[in-house]
Parts: sequence; C-alpha cells; structure tokens
Amino acid sequence: MEKLYKKYKEFTKKSEAILFAMRIVFWDAQTEAPKSIASYRSEMLGELTKQVLAINKDPQFIRIVNSLYEKIDFLDDFHKREIYEEKRELDKLLKVPEDLMIKHQKLKVHAQQLWEEAREKQDFSIFESVLKEMIDLVKEITSYTKEENQTIYEALIDDFERGITLKDYDKFFDQLRADLVPFVLEVIAKEPQYNDDFMKLPYDVARQKKFVEYLMEVLPFDTKRGGSNEGVHPFCWGTSPDDVRFTLRYLENNFLFSIFASTHEMGHAMHYQGVDRKYLGTPLFRISSAGFIGLSISGIAESQSRFYENIIARSKAFWEVHYHKLQSIFKEELQDVPMDDFYKVYNKVQQSYIRVVSDELTYPLHIMVRYEIEKALFNDEIEVKDLPKIWNQKMKKYLNITPRNDSEGVLQDVHWSLGWFGYFPTYALGGAYASQWANEINKTINIDECIKESKLDVINDWLKENIHKYGSFKLPKQLLLDVTNEEFNPKYYIEYLKRKYTELLLK
Ligand SMILES: [Zn+2]
Repeated sequence: MEKLYKKYKEFTKKSEAILFAMRIVFWDAQTEAPKSIASYRSEMLGELTKQVLAINKDPQFIRIVNSLYEKIDFLDDFHKREIYEEKRELDKLLKVPEDLMIKHQKLKVHAQQLWEEAREKQDFSIFESVLKEMIDLVKEITSYTKEENQTIYEALIDDFERGITLKDYDKFFDQLRADLVPFVLEVIAKEPQYNDDFMKLPYDVARQKKFVEYLMEVLPFDTKRGGSNEGVHPFCWGTSPDDVRFTLRYLENNFLFSIFASTHEMGHAMHYQGVDRKYLGTPLFRISSAGFIGLSISGIAESQSRFYENIIARSKAFWEVHYHKLQSIFKEELQDVPMDDFYKVYNKVQQSYIRVVSDELTYPLHIMVRYEIEKALFNDEIEVKDLPKIWNQKMKKYLNITPRNDSEGVLQDVHWSLGWFGYFPTYALGGAYASQWANEINKTINIDECIKESKLDVINDWLKENIHKYGSFKLPKQLLLDVTNEEFNPKYYIEYLKRKYTELLLK
C-alpha cells in the first residue's frame, strides 16, 4: 500500500509541477505581461495542458488510482479524502470524450468574444446563438459525468459547492424571496438622509494605495507570504499558503470600490494562507477559483471574503477605529465629513442594475434572478431567446427596476460565456455562511469588541483553526455541522441584514 501511494505521488508531483508553472503564467498574464504575447502564451499553455492530460491518462496512473481506491477503507482520513477526490476527478476526465473537451475550450474563447461585442453594442441577439450552443455543450458534457440520480443542473451546482443540492438552494432562495424581498422593497421606498457630496470628488490613486496597505496591516494579511498588484478585475490567486496574491483596481471616482474590494480579496487571501501545508499538492488544497485552484467549495471560500468585507469592514465598529486614518490620508476631501455620513453612504441601498456594484442588502436578490433563470434554462422551461425579457421581469419583481438595455441586464456577467452554470448561487451562499460563522464566533468572542480593540488577529485565528486550515478536506455541510453544531441556516443571514438596515434607516 505504501509503495503504491509513493508511486501515485510520483505521478501527481509531475502534473503538479506543470500546474504550478501554469499558475505562475496565469498570474503574469493577468498582471505584468504585455498583450502582445497572448497568442504565443496560449499555444504554450495548450502544450502544457496536453502534458498534464497525458500524465492523468497514463494507464499506469489510472491503475494506481483505481487500486488505491479499492483499498480506500484502509487509509487514514486525510488520504481517504485525497484518493476519493482524485478518483472522482479522474473518472470525470476519462468519461468525457476528448473532442468535446476541445470543443468546449474553443467555444469558450469564441463565446467570450461575442459576449464582449454584444455587451458593447447592448445587443443580446449577437450573443444569443453562441450562448445556446454553450448551454447545449455543457448539457452534453455533464450528461457523461453526472450521477444517475442527478439532473444536469444538480450536477453542475454540485461541482461548485460540493454536497449542496438543488433542494438546499430552493429552500434558501424560498426563504430569501419570502423574508427579504418585501423588506428590500420597503427599504428602497424610503428617502435616504445624508450628504454624499464627498463621493463626487476625485480620490488620488496613490493615496488610495496607501490606505489599502494600512488595511493589510489591520486585518492582518501576511505580506511576507503574498502581496497585491493592480489588475482589471479584482481576484485572488495562489500556488501555496506561502504565496498568495490578489489584484486590485483603483478608481479615482469611486474610492470605496478599492477599500471594499481589497478587504474582500484579503479575506480570500487569508483563507489560502491559513490552509494546512500538508494538503499542498493534493486535491484538498483546492478551495475555489483562485488562479487554477479548482472550484470545489466556492461558497465556503466566498464566506471568508464576505466575512472580512461585510461583517468586519462594513461594520460601524470598524470605521469608529479606522475612519480617522482615512481622514488623515484624504485630509481635504474628508475632514468635514462626519463618520456617520460616511457609514451611511457606503451602506447605501440602491436599486442597482449591476450585481458587482450592488449593496450588501440587495446583492442576494441579484443572485436569485440568476439562479431562477439557470434552473429554468437547464430544465428546458425557458428558451435562450427570451432571456432579456425574463431577466427584466425578475428585476422588476425583486428590485422594482427595469434595465434600460441588455448590457445593464442579461449581458452584464462573463460567467455564462465561459460555460459556468451553477456558480452564481455560491455567491449568495457565501454571504449567508458568513453570518452563520459570525453568530457562532459571537458566542465566545465579541466581534465588535475585537474590532474596536484592534484585535482582529483573534478572529482570524478562530477562522484559521475552524475553517481555513482544512482546505477542502471537510465539505461544506460537514464543516457547518462541525463548526456551528447545526446545519446551514439562512435565518442568521436574514436576521443580520434586517437588523443592520433597520438600524440604518431609523437614524
Ligand atoms: Zn470572492
């Protein structure tokens, strides 16, 4: 058995080494590399992908994995999980005909180009037929990999958040629809009372960066084991707990964006930095879409970024301590702005058309629109050509607004052009998990007190000990049960949002 496992590791080390190099190339592509290298790079990456596939499809490797899987009961818990995940991935890889995989790779590039064009021209009809093609292809590929008792959409959501079923999501969104939608409609009907003139000023990017560096110290993000760069889209990336980086975007006309995007990405980054090194090089290091790190528990990953962004950085306690620092960096712009106005402005509830700039309260409703549509699409209840109309109807129903064009509506997200269906609902799940963690932490540690006493390391240690260190060793349902002694319960999320926004409105 030991010999067999050693042999297995010899194979995976070879593929991991190639994947390591590919991840570095990916980071380089997103940050430093000039655009002119794009086509040569994609040729080289294509070659490296072939080499990884060749290692995985080597008959000797397949035999080794199958033999280990047959003896899985004799392995300790860590290796049991490792081999289980390896076997699952390998089976999927072997089941899907290679020509379909190649077709998918090519269609992704084509679909993304058409999506960009359609979005630019505000015209869904440009994207319509390739989207239909993508959906059909994803259905075909998934029909090879799904479990017998699963529908296609059930298999897709299981890939992004392992173990969470359609029934779980339905229950979650039913609760949001019943409890949150009426509350949101009530909140947005009220006139907000604050002065937001300071938001109309430009904020120097160099000074924004200085404040983000300050936030890194506050959270605290370990800069000895990572760092950040500027990039077009904020995202987090890593190769190991010892190298985790994230990108940020600075907007002169919206300094709040870099503040909250940085705390979001740092939440992801601290999660990766906290994973136990013993999982490195195994499928259990994979947490979410960081670079090339797989996608198995995206909701849990998102719960860490949302925890730092929402529970910590969007709290009042946080700015009671750190607002003076922001004021000292932006003296002219903020010296006459009371903390209270600042707090109200960054928590402003908006009927936004666009998900990525929406506030904490309406955000899950944006996700609900996407979930309902994806589900209906994959159950053949609606047709692609009707998507703009259906999208707008749902936005009217949940947020009482109607997008003025397709780019503000159905065309706003890149996900579908990449064939990512079933990913969106994990975003809402992440927010809800974050509230459940907060509720649990508050039983023994007072989060607000820690924030006020600048003891965020106490909270980070708790998260590391209970969540981060496990990587994806524990799947979401197990993790929730182990940490909170209860199953996933969206009531904490709904209560948190209602409490926060009721307080904000009463003032
Ligand atoms: Zn995130």
